Order: sequence, then structure tokens, then C-alpha cells
Amino acid sequence: MGRTPVTVARGDGIGPEIMDAVLRILEAADAPIEPEYIDIGKEAYLNGWTTGITDDAWKSLNRTKLFLKAPITTPQGGGYKSLNVTIRTTLGLYANVRPTMSLAPFVKTKHPEMDLVVIRENEEDLYTGIEYQQTPEVVQSMKLITRPGTERIIRYAFEYAKKHGRKKVTCITKDNIMKRSDGLFHEVFEEVAKEYPELETDHWIVDIGLAKIADTPEDFDVVVMPNLYGDIGSDIAAQISGSVGLAGSANVGDEYAMFEAIHGSAPDIAGKGIANPSGLLNGAVQLLLHIGEAEAAENIQNAWLKTLEDGVHTGDIAKGGKSVGSKEFADAVIERLGSRP
Ligand code: ATP
Ligand code: MG
Repeated sequence: MGRTPVTVARGDGIGPEIMDAVLRILEAADAPIEPEYIDIGKEAYLNGWTTGITDDAWKSLNRTKLFLKAPITTPQGGGYKSLNVTIRTTLGLYANVRPTMSLAPFVKTKHPEMDLVVIRENEEDLYTGIEYQQTPEVVQSMKLITRPGTERIIRYAFEYAKKHGRKKVTCITKDNIMKRSDGLFHEVFEEVAKEYPELETDHWIVDIGLAKIADTPEDFDVVVMPNLYGDIGSDIAAQISGSVGLAGSANVGDEYAMFEAIHGSAPDIAGKGIANPSGLLNGAVQLLLHIGEAEAAENIQNAWLKTLEDGVHTGDIAKGGKSVGSKEFADAVIERLGSRP
């Protein structure tokens, strides 16, 4: 049987450590993919590729249309434009799907009932990176919300809910203040909602909405948000489920798809071999499901769950208890391939 070529970037910070762990697990599970490695990020930038992405990297992406990406450091303040944003917009990855669920009692969380999916708009909002200096003392940043872009992400959220047997879709905006931009997002939500009478819907203003997610996440199911609120909301959801290191995400467009962990490159723990590879592993599982390899996806997910159930935990979820490093964690998952949860 043929293997599906997938472009793979090992990333910065903890990227290479967690990517190694994940690729070892994929290989041991005989997941039918063929990695094509590319170098992007700081290295490429320092070698004169101003976007941080080489021509060869683009060629690979154009060929495979599938991307498994480890976290890449985005410089704060100056430097080059966020590479993550460049990739998402160039490849037209308009939908960012971020599921988080409780794994209680095996992973400690104050929210044992939570099981929610954040659907984050991925190309617009404040992430266009269009900022300019109006006067020496005034800077303006542009928040872009379009009707077609909004309609597409909201429809995606409703279709996702329908396909995955979810019951409710929640919209989060700040349309009491940003009446035009967030107002449009909310308005389109109400319009599209009418086409899905079988699904329950509600809307929250972002401040109290995210506070409620932090307090009673079990009341939420599918949550659709503009780019920035979606970024913040999904980090909150993942963190309160046990660790930001647990959740994976799919970035989906009409032609391309990219899979990754929701967290960043965690420079504070890079090189120590202690990072949790689970987020990237869950991204890889989503990739396998995306290409129709449900059997391999299920095998890996079951082994991963069994590993956590058996108490094999990296430092971020061990919460002071006994912990293992990224390598040992991957070994434990590999040992449990082929087992039932
Ligand atoms: P970005 O802007 O790229 O999203 P960030 O500023 O949100 O990055 P992260 O790199 O996600 O930051 O890290 C946030 C915190 O979570 C750090 O303390 C980091 O060590 C921890 N962390 C992130 N990922 C992991 C992981 N896989 N395993 C363990 N700890 C992690
Ligand atoms: Mg972050």
C-alpha cells in the first residue's frame, strides 16, 4: 500500500524533541505516511530567507498539501513577521480546530466533565499584522473581519458540530464595544444558525464568556470565535484540562491542511527532554484521520490513553508526582500500541 507524503518541520525550542517522539510513535504504529523534512524558522531566516521559509520548503508543501509542524519561535516585537501567520494565510488554512477534553481521573483537572472544541478563525482579525505608525506617539493596528471569511468559519463550526454529534454551538465576540467588526461576526452567526435548527446556540461577550469557560467548561460544546479570542480561549481550555501540552490542533483549508500542537516552542524547557509530546501527537492523530487512516489513528490514540491511565506522565501533568521525559513517554506509548484502552 502506498504511503502518503507529509511535509514535516521539526521547529524550534522543544520542537525537535517532541517531533522525534511523535515520529517514533508513528513509525512504530506503521502509520502509512512518508515524511519530507523541511527547515523553516530562525535558521532559514538567518540564511537570508526573509519570510523564514525556503523555496524548497514551499515546493514540498505544494507537493504534499499536508503539513505536520512542530512549534516555531515567533520573535516578540521586531524581527520577521510571524511565520505561523504567513503559513496559515499563504496556504489558506481558514479553520483552526482545537479539541480539549478532560482525561480525569488519569490526568488531574478541576473540570472532570469538560469536552469542548474551539473553532478559531485563522486568517483575519488582528492577525493580519497590519500596523502603522500614525504619529510618533500613536500606533494603529488593523482588525479585519470580512463577511465571506466569517460565514466560512461559522458554517465550518456548525458542520463540524453536526458531523461529530455535538449539541450546541456557542459564539464569542465583543460586539458591545466593536459593534462593526465583532458585530458582523455575531450577526453572521445568528444568520447561519437559522439553517441548523437542530443545534442549540448561544452567544457570550468575550470577557465573561472566557471566564465561564474557565469556570464551567462542561457547559460548552463547540465554540466559534474570531482569531484572537480563539487563541486565548483554546489555551485556557487546554490548560484547565490538565496542561497546555495535551491538545493538538488541525488547521484546515480547501486545499491544504496543517497539524500541530496548540502550544508554542516553550524555550524555558527546551533541550531538557522533559516536554510533553502529547499535543503534537494529537495533531498527528488528527492528520491520520484527515487522510482516512482511522485504524492507525485509533491504535495510537488508544496506546496514548493507556499510557496516561497507567500513570506514565510528563512533568507538566505529573503536578509534583513522579514524571518521565519525552523519550520515556514515547517508549511507553510504543509499548502499548495494539492494546485497548
Ligand atoms: P506561542 O506564542 O508560540 O503560543 P506561548 O508564549 O503561548 O507561545 P508556550 O511556548 O506555549 O508559550 O509555553 C507556555 C508555557 O507552557 C511554558 O511555561 C511552557 O514551558 C509550557 N509548555 C508548553 N508546551 C509544553 C509541553 N509540550 N510540555 C510541557 N510544558 C509545556
Ligand atoms: Mg500561546
